[in-house]
Parts: sequence; C-alpha cells; structure tokens
Amino acid sequence: MVTRVNEIRFIDEVVLEKKRVFIRCDFNVPIKNGVITDDTRVVAALKSINYAIDNGAKVILGSHLGRPKGGKFEEEYSMKPVGEALAKYLKKDVLLTDMPDSDGLGKMIDDLKSNQIILLENLRFVKFEKENDTVYAKKMASHFDVYVNDAFGTAHRAEVSTEGIAHHVKEAVAGFLIKTELEKFNKMLDDYEKPFIAILGGAKVSDKIGVISELMNRVDKIIIGGAMANTFLAAKGYALGKSKIETDKIELAKEILANAESKGIEIMLPEDLTGATEFNNDAEHDVFTLEAFPEDMMALDIGEKTAEKYSKTILKAKTVFWNGPMGVFEMENFAKGTLKVAVAVTTSRSYSVIGGGDSVAAIKSLNLENKIDHVSTGGGASLEYLEGQDLPALAALRTRKNG
Ligand code: AMP
Repeated sequence: MVTRVNEIRFIDEVVLEKKRVFIRCDFNVPIKNGVITDDTRVVAALKSINYAIDNGAKVILGSHLGRPKGGKFEEEYSMKPVGEALAKYLKKDVLLTDMPDSDGLGKMIDDLKSNQIILLENLRFVKFEKENDTVYAKKMASHFDVYVNDAFGTAHRAEVSTEGIAHHVKEAVAGFLIKTELEKFNKMLDDYEKPFIAILGGAKVSDKIGVISELMNRVDKIIIGGAMANTFLAAKGYALGKSKIETDKIELAKEILANAESKGIEIMLPEDLTGATEFNNDAEHDVFTLEAFPEDMMALDIGEKTAEKYSKTILKAKTVFWNGPMGVFEMENFAKGTLKVAVAVTTSRSYSVIGGGDSVAAIKSLNLENKIDHVSTGGGASLEYLEGQDLPALAALRTRKNG
C-alpha cells in the first residue's frame, strides 16, 4: 500500500506553541575524525526545525547515526558534531543529552529556554530502539506532546523513534521533508507523462526485483546497467568471464525478461561492456562486445556504444526514475557510463526522480543535483515505497491521522 499525501497529517496542521515537540530527523551524516564531511542532511532538516521554533515549540531532536552496537554510549557515534552544526545553523544553544533516554530529560525539557533546543544522543545507543520495544516507546512518548517524523530514509524500518512512539503521543505527524518525498513520488506514480523510463543499476538484481515488477505497470522501457545487467546477460546466454553474476538469480532474470516481453515493455541491456583484468581503477581495461568478452576479465562499466544508446533513449523520456550506477563509478576509469547517464537525465526535459544512494553521489559529483526534480533522501525506503510496500513509519502516521 502506497501512502498518499492526503492520508497523513503534517507539522503545519497541529498546534505547536508551548508544546514539547520531538522531531525524528535523519542526521545519519558521514563523519571523519569528529568532523562532518557532508552536512546535506542537517541542512535538509532545518525547515521543519525552524518551523517548530518559530511557532513557539519546545524542540527536542533525535536521530540515529551509523551502526553502534547498542546498549551504551560510544564516542565514535556521538551526535556531538551534529549538535555543533545545528548550533551554527540555528544560532541556538543545542543541549546534548548523555543518552537518548537520559534520566534528566524531563527536567531538561521543563527548564528549556527560548534560545535553547535539545538534541538526544544517538537513538541507537539504547538497544530497545531497534527492537521497537513497546515499554520503551511509551517511556519516550511520555516526554513529548507532538511527534514529528521527518526521516524518510528510515521510514521502512519499524523502530521506536520511527514507528513505536507514534502510537503513544497525543499528536503524530510528518515533517516537511517527508511531505516533499511523498508529493514528488506521488506525482511520479499517479500523474506521469509517457514515455516513462526507469534506469536501474547497481550491484544486485535481488535488491531491485520488487521495484522492477511494480514499475512494469507504468514504464515503457527499463534501462539496466551495473553488475545487475551481467545477471540478465547471463540469462540470455552470454559468457562474461570473471564478471560479478548472481547465478542464483539467472532464472528470475529470465522470468522478468519474459514478463516484460508479454507486457510489451522493452528491457534495454548493454551491447558492449568495459572489462578489466582486476577490480581496481589501475587495472588494464578495454571495451568489448558481448560476444568477444574475454574469459579472464570482469565487466566494470557499460561500454561506449551502450552509454550512447542509453543516453539517446533517456533524452526522449518525459518521466525518468533512476536508481543505481551503471558501473563501478567510485573508480574514475569505470564511471563513464554512469556519468553519461547522469548528464542525459539532467539534460532531458523529463520529470526526473532519483532514488537515493549511489546515483545521487554520481549526480552530486557533477554538480547537477539542482537539475533533478527530486533527489530522494531514502535509498532503500524509496525502493520499498515504489514497490508498493507499506512503510511502517508512514503506516503509523496514517493510523494516527484521525486520532
Ligand atoms: P547498489 O547499492 O545496489 O545500488 O549498488 C551500488 C554498487 O554497485 C556500487 O558500489 C558499484 O560500484 C557497484 N557496481 C556497479 N556496477 C558493478 C559491476 N559491473 N561490477 C561490480 N560492482 C558494480
């Protein structure tokens, strides 16, 4: 079930003045040696936070960060750098708790001054968080009047701060970031122009199988690249040397190809591939046709002819959804296919949506992200949303719309 915008309530539909408002943000930022290397997610959260501050709320923020073991404080995963970034952007004192469920939290909220906000320590420092423990959800909920979920990237996970808590606070709503995600995805699902082209790449067929089946109800063509393409090419009988292939997914790939054919949907696969002797940027490499792919090489990118053909097809699209790189784009020598596709998506006059993860990194490396209609903040969440799966965080907000 896909949640539509009108099925949940948003932060601007509830009274916030003097209320204890907990905003579940996505502050899962990259940190190196205590310094945030990309603060996009902090900046993206400011709209809802500022709205709550401007409307007189007592603001308490929380997020997970990385993958701590759970059960105790771990310096490496502390929210301290996030607190410093927030203080800079909001020009407020940011009080960081020692643990998310700190004993002093109630008093801290009671005593909060108008120039202060509270940031809870990494929510995953408490092991009950990931377990979606009901007793813990009720305990956390007792500190807040209004719960605002603005973390789309974790909407597919049922944890206390993303799901459980929503059932035990007086008001449970979504923030502006989630609103934008839903509006942009809803447009692509309900109100799209044809030709609609999906571009799928990355490592695994298994990760994208659900979304391929669902997209087949709407799209005209599916362009496939990355290691995923190798499995489809193997299903068509090509031998691709040492390339990464999911042998246990070859039958599935055959079924997808047959299903697409019966629906009149074209699945475009590479016609040539860049092969390398090793999984290494400096490895010897060249472009090969499928028939002549050497036994001792591995495909690490689509070839030039394929990139050109994909690009021409994308330029004619009116709606584009893209998830996953066309090759090992982290290595300069194998990034060409992904970059060519990125340029085509941004120069096409299509309504374009990019579903998180590595394709976003590719677009950002070219400084093209503002030429995309929507760059989703959720990789896994956006795929599950498009697959039609009911994301637990959104389901909880739906049930709270009327009570
Ligand atoms: P995903 O998370 O499924 O979108 O996969 C992204 C990863 O797939 C990136 O780290 C790419 O380097 C990797 N990838 C893409 N194409 C290939 C390929 N031909 N061989 C091996 N890895 C690939």
